[in-house]
This record gives sequence, structure tokens and C-alpha cells, in this order.
Amino acid sequence: MLTLGVETSCDETSVAVVDDQMRILSNVIISQIDTHKQYGGVVPEIAARQHITNILPVLDEALRKAQIKVTDLDQVAATTHPGLPGAVMVGRVFGYSLAGALKVPFAAVNHLHGHIASLKLSNPNLRPPMLCLLVSGGHTLLYLVNADWTTELLVTTTDDAIGEAFDKVARVLGMPYPGGPQIAHRADMTTEFTPFISKFPKENFSYSGLKTAVLNYVNHERQLEHALNISQICANFQYCAVAQLVTKCQALLKKYQIKTLGICGGVAANQYLREQFSKLCAKLNVKLFLPKPELCGDNAAMIAAAALLGIK
Ligand code: AMP
Ligand code: MG
Repeated sequence: MLTLGVETSCDETSVAVVDDQMRILSNVIISQIDTHKQYGGVVPEIAARQHITNILPVLDEALRKAQIKVTDLDQVAATTHPGLPGAVMVGRVFGYSLAGALKVPFAAVNHLHGHIASLKLSNPNLRPPMLCLLVSGGHTLLYLVNADWTTELLVTTTDDAIGEAFDKVARVLGMPYPGGPQIAHRADMTTEFTPFISKFPKENFSYSGLKTAVLNYVNHERQLEHALNISQICANFQYCAVAQLVTKCQALLKKYQIKTLGICGGVAANQYLREQFSKLCAKLNVKLFLPKPELCGDNAAMIAAAALLGIK
């Protein structure tokens, strides 16, 4: 059985073919980063238009790489929400129409469930129950994933997402979009940490206060015409951004007595975050699962996988 995955919720156009053993036969991704870079962030209208231009060539390439014909498909799965409205609509309508033309079932997939599925695609031996931390440009969420792949949202952010904070801090420091990898690259982790912020809301994640604290610090230093120590700013920001994730996960792993933790989404590529969670999980005797680096960002293989797992 072959599932076609379709993903257009933000600035990646992606089509993938995944079989019923969750093997990826192809996972073609066209990123629009170079287009949006010049505006300092994703421009929704441009993203939607580029998806329209890219979707058919990406489908052709995905079928060619998987060495199948479009009529070999047994199911089509597309991201239907959440996402930039115009962008997500392109893949949704495309997938729905293709399924109709082929007379095969259409699966509507929640993009966030796709990120959770990227963990299973990368680690076939992963078995829930688990806690799952989803850290991306638009979301900072902690889920309880039950043995049957039903999910319960435990924690969200009261304001900004963690990736958004990375991107905004990078922008004020003059680094190009997307800023997460730039900050990670510049952070000098041998420095002493002087946290920008020490208090976070108890029940949720929060990144707006941290972002503002860094921006205020940078503006203040610039007004005084002090030279900025970029490596130290990046390190201290990254420290604060990751510390609240670690604290919350530690508390909830204990509360739910769960011995498996998954971390997914674009920010899961961050090396410092990975190191901190490796230490935490070793201390608590918890198994840590991460996606392969190429499956951290948005891609259609994870959308097909979410449909196959029936994540709800
Ligand atoms: P996504 O929303 O899942 O497509 O992920 C994109 C987000 O991940 C953007 O906000 C990036 O800045 C962020 N990101 C990507 N790589 C890293 C990294 N190494 N460290 C921190 N953030 C990252
Ligand atoms: Mg995403």
C-alpha cells in the first residue's frame, strides 16, 4: 500500500511516497527560504503562489524517485491545518482533487501530528506512551502521546513560539532569516551564562518576555555605543530558551511516570538543546527519541506517516 504525502503549510512545498511499512520511497522538498530571506520572514501571499508553481513538478519528482506511477497510489494525505491559510489551501485542494481523480481515500492531516510522526519515521522501534515536545517556528507544545497514538496537549506557549524568538533575536543582531541555525552557530557555549530572564509562567511556556529582554539589552548597549558580544548574547539567549523546556519536561516526565521522550520540529535540530535533553534523560533513565535532521523541518513524508499511524 502506497501513501502520497503533501505538505504546503508554510514555505516548503513537499510531496512524498511512503509504503505501509513506513519506508520512505521519496521525500521531495522545495524550500522557498531564498525568496523569503530578502523580506526577513515568510510572506504568506508569495508562499501560496510559489506552492502553486512548484506542486506539480514536486509531485513528478516524488513519483520518479519512488519509481511508481500516479495510479499505483492507494491513499493521498495532505496537511489541512494549521498553517498559513493561502499556503495550506494549495496542498489541501491539490491532494483532495488528486485523491478524487484516482478514486482513492483522502486523509486530512494535522501538521503538528506530522511532526510527531517524524519521530516514528526516524526510529521504527519507538512505541508510545511518550511525552512529545514540539518546538518549531510557529509552535512550542508538549503532548502526551498514548499507546494508540491519540494525543493530549499538556502545555503550550502563552505568547511567542521558541523558533520565532530565535528568528527575532537573530534579526535584531543583523543575521539573516531563518535565525535559529545562525544563533546556534554563533553561540559561545564556553561562556558563563547570565540569564536574560529568570522567571517564566508556571503553567505554560513563554518566549515574548525573553525576546523583549534581549532586544532591550541590545538597544541599551547600542545607545551607550558599547560593542556587542554577539557570541555571549546568543549563548545566553539559547540557554534561557532551552532551560524552560528542560524544567517543564522534567516535571511532567515525573508527574506522568513516563520513560520515553520525543522532541520534534525545526528547533529540534539545535545541538545545544539535544545535549541538554540527553543529559536530562540520562539522569532520569528516560529514552530520548529525535528525528533524523532531514525530518526535523517541514516535509511530506511525516504527513503520510501521520495518516498511516492514525494520530489523533
Ligand atoms: P519549522 O517551523 O518546523 O519549519 O522550523 C523552523 C524553525 O526552526 C525556525 O524558527 C528556525 O529558526 C528554527 N531552527 C532551525 N534550525 C535551528 C537550530 N539549529 N537552532 C535553533 N532553531 C532552529
Ligand atoms: Mg512545521
